[in-house]
Amino acid sequence: MRDARFGLLTDRPATFVLVGGRVIDPSDGSDEERDIAVRDGLVVEAADDAERIDASGWVIAPGFCDLHAHLREPGISGAETIASGTRAAAHGGFTTVCAMPNTDPPLDSADAVGAVVAAPASARVRVIAAATRRRAGGELTAVEELGRAGAIGVSDDGAAVPSAALTADLLARLASLGLPLFEHAEDASVAGGGVMRAGPAATRLGLAPWPPEAEVAIVERDIALAEAAHARLHLTHLSTARSLDAVRAAKARGVAVTCDVTPHHLALTDEWVAGSRRFAWEEADPRSELAYDGRCRVNPPLASRDDAMNLLAGVADGAVDAIATDHAPHPAESKLVPFAQAAPGLIGLETALSVGLLTVEAGRLSLSALLAALSTRPAAIVGEKRGLRTGERADLVAFDPAAGWRVDATTLGSASANSPLVDMELPGVVRLTVADGRVTYRT
Ligand SMILES: [Zn+2]
Repeated sequence: MRDARFGLLTDRPATFVLVGGRVIDPSDGSDEERDIAVRDGLVVEAADDAERIDASGWVIAPGFCDLHAHLREPGISGAETIASGTRAAAHGGFTTVCAMPNTDPPLDSADAVGAVVAAPASARVRVIAAATRRRAGGELTAVEELGRAGAIGVSDDGAAVPSAALTADLLARLASLGLPLFEHAEDASVAGGGVMRAGPAATRLGLAPWPPEAEVAIVERDIALAEAAHARLHLTHLSTARSLDAVRAAKARGVAVTCDVTPHHLALTDEWVAGSRRFAWEEADPRSELAYDGRCRVNPPLASRDDAMNLLAGVADGAVDAIATDHAPHPAESKLVPFAQAAPGLIGLETALSVGLLTVEAGRLSLSALLAALSTRPAAIVGEKRGLRTGERADLVAFDPAAGWRVDATTLGSASANSPLVDMELPGVVRLTVADGRVTYRT
């Protein structure tokens, strides 16, 4: 059944005028009330005969770019498809999603990459292809061929590239292509099967602890190898302050390293596994009736409050380049099991802006820093521009920051609803998303 809220990138380019919105463009630091006129998908000086959309009270920003999403196609389409995952993206204000290769089979060939890029979608889909064949950690993929097919980087997300020698080989080949390794930094031998962040909450709950050193060990290994190879390294879903310290030091030395953090590692904490539903800047309120909720299992696991606050400070000062969702759809039954058996991951495309706005309301982040971390800064990492200026292709999101919504599983664009935020009231309602000049979401 067609849902009238959503459009496709193959639709006719749009013509409209957004009247009276607050336009925030992190690419030039501007923040002003002005109209945006779009004719046939292009931002123009004026479009007098076009539909006028009252945008008073709305914020208009460059379209968001998610560096880390799981679209589950091919092979796991009960959880998500390219169509449903990009509808979730459009609903969340995203105009680009970078699809991870954790599909069945994994995206490890030029044909597989080409099929994903060509699929009809409500957002641009860029592919991060597998770093090793079948994502099995053995032999490297043909990264040159994958790059020619459109891959914007490689990753064995779900796991780190297992050995330092293999990582060094990979980085040397990527360096000559100018493509980054998107690393899931986790040393499995240190993680040791841990299912929640090591700390007082894990001890109280009796769950196997995941030591933060599992992440730091790979972050430090990869920075050293990328520095030696003069290669680009992107560290995804960082969850510890010590990892961010290593990134800060590497950036200061001129290493080509970037990183992202997820909304859930910024705002939720390990106390959520114990049943708390308070955010990182609030006192936890663990409630036994909500403890062991499989929807709070994610990898890397939800961080300590200290780490979350440190990562938030990193977004505020720019050490963290981007907020990426790690949107990880799973069917409900894979979460309705004992916590340690729950599939790790939660959906995030449709709640990322709202969780970001919570951090703004709490005074932890400026609105412009939030929007830069969602739009222009990740877009730059994948070589995309964002258009709000005359002559550019319209690529934007318009949202009402003062409106609220209940995260309702029945109205999500995603085919899955695995998130502890479902049924919560969150701030910020997306009204319009325009990707590549086409309306992809409107309500
Ligand atoms: Zn990962």
